[in-house]
Amino acid sequence: MVRTKSIEAEGREIERAAALVKLGARLQLLEAETKLSRERLLRLYKEVHKKSPPKGMLPFSTDWFMSWQPNTHASMFLNIYEYLTKASDLDDVDALVKSYQLYQEQLKVLDLPEVLSITRAWRLVKFVDSGMLTLKPCTKCEGLFVVHTLDLHEHFVCGLCHMPARAGKSAHALASAAAEAAN
Ligand SMILES: [Zn+2]
Repeated sequence: MVRTKSIEAEGREIERAAALVKLGARLQLLEAETKLSRERLLRLYKEVHKKSPPKGMLPFSTDWFMSWQPNTHASMFLNIYEYLTKASDLDDVDALVKSYQLYQEQLKVLDLPEVLSITRAWRLVKFVDSGMLTLKPCTKCEGLFVVHTLDLHEHFVCGLCHMPARAGKSAHALASAAAEAAN
């Protein structure tokens, strides 16, 4: 019985890792969030992508999430993530996978490029968990956007209401989608 259980648990771990790998997760994410050995994860990665995972450090700065385009994408993802974790009893990893898939579906509908990788999305959730980043409402459109927790938000206006001139067509598509989602 114990043995069956541990085999089941292992199968479940492999399934989760495979889902993350398919979404493009970096090795650091896989090592942190699954119980599989590094060797196994490497093998899994190579099997799916037909190449070795990229080496090098992950970006650890919160600043990336603040520039215009990343912020709109990060905000879209985090709204989905927060909704899912409140509305269901998914654990953190399953919530990450499911939210990221929903984010990708949104992009497809809007015909937008994928700006937020799943590894970035994972970092974002960690930054929120540690209290460095949070969602705050825009004073104009009332949509929730990713901000530094310690900044002042009294007069906060989001990137969609205060759009840079160069933002162009995709930004307007995103803005109207965000407005629709809020209604
Ligand atoms: Zn706004």
